Amino acid sequence: MSVNRRDFLRIGTGGAVAASLALESLPAQVPESSVSTETRRIDFHSHAFPAELLRSLGKYYPEIIHYKEDPVRGPYAIHAGTPLPAWDDSLRIKDIQAAGVDVEVLSCPPLYTALDDHLPELCRLVNDRLAGSCLRYPRRFKAFAHLPFNDMDALLKEMSRCLDQLGFVGVFITSNIGGHYLDAPQFEEFWHEADKRRVPVFLHPLLSPCYQDSEQPPIFSFPYESTLAVTRLITRGLYERFPNVVLVVAHLGGTLPYLAHRIDLGHEIPALRTPEWKISRPPSEYMKKLYFDTAMGWSRGAFNCARDLVGIEHLVLGTDYFIRESGWMGRTTGFLSSLDIKPAERELISYQNASRILKLS
Ligand SMILES: [Zn+2]
Repeated sequence: MSVNRRDFLRIGTGGAVAASLALESLPAQVPESSVSTETRRIDFHSHAFPAELLRSLGKYYPEIIHYKEDPVRGPYAIHAGTPLPAWDDSLRIKDIQAAGVDVEVLSCPPLYTALDDHLPELCRLVNDRLAGSCLRYPRRFKAFAHLPFNDMDALLKEMSRCLDQLGFVGVFITSNIGGHYLDAPQFEEFWHEADKRRVPVFLHPLLSPCYQDSEQPPIFSFPYESTLAVTRLITRGLYERFPNVVLVVAHLGGTLPYLAHRIDLGHEIPALRTPEWKISRPPSEYMKKLYFDTAMGWSRGAFNCARDLVGIEHLVLGTDYFIRESGWMGRTTGFLSSLDIKPAERELISYQNASRILKLS
């Protein structure tokens, strides 16, 4: 089933919301085929970069994001050495059908390049575009809310608009927002709201304010950046203040599964922790509450390490798909199929765990 413009206006979001989404020129749709019945898959980690966003980011932050228009490839941007192609939902539908993925949950990391007054405009732009794709392909696309962390009042309003009116299924954050880690007191209201709502908060790495090397950040810095961001949240007492937060960390948790018990040394030896630590137990005990997605984790050792830390019920399929030529969707589903685990465990990772925390069933 697809939703046309008239259906969209009828959906319970109301006319005002529909008008705000500016969907007057919906592109032609490709048909949604029936979802698969053999291996059900929800991709928790898949990116969508609206062309208008890439253009705005290139204009506001030209030293960080380079916007380009190619006569063949169309609009795209270069960020952290990585080409970011502009979103095309019809092409993505073809790709996910070919890879046997039933549902993608869409997110857009470069949006959080800076913590400044552009954020409300950029968040609304992304959220509206993703809402449009979800309405055109309601069985195939879900979306995370992108929030203006520069202004907590605006953030709470946008969070409510996305979750209560647009039907978004969680919130998307990055390891830092424009260089600010999310354990800072100014973000406390956000965590309070996330705890109250018990919605998934998906944390993805971004350019680190600490990393100085010339090697490309996605290879070396991103896994460490997620590790630092989550360790800061945990050791500053996130789960002690907000025990209901559902925090999902990209890329098998960065290096957390490997380093968890080394990080515990900060609990055992006072000289190895900072005065900001506010926890009563070793960090690794709180890490068991985390969820990890499987993106970029094409290694049995890395997978087993992550499973040992959080358990099979806290792993969700993620492919990090956004480059059509990458083949990351098929590579990830193929890797999971190759693992020596029970079919019921594979079903948990591929579908049921995500469906449960996203409240899709
Ligand atoms: Zn990603």
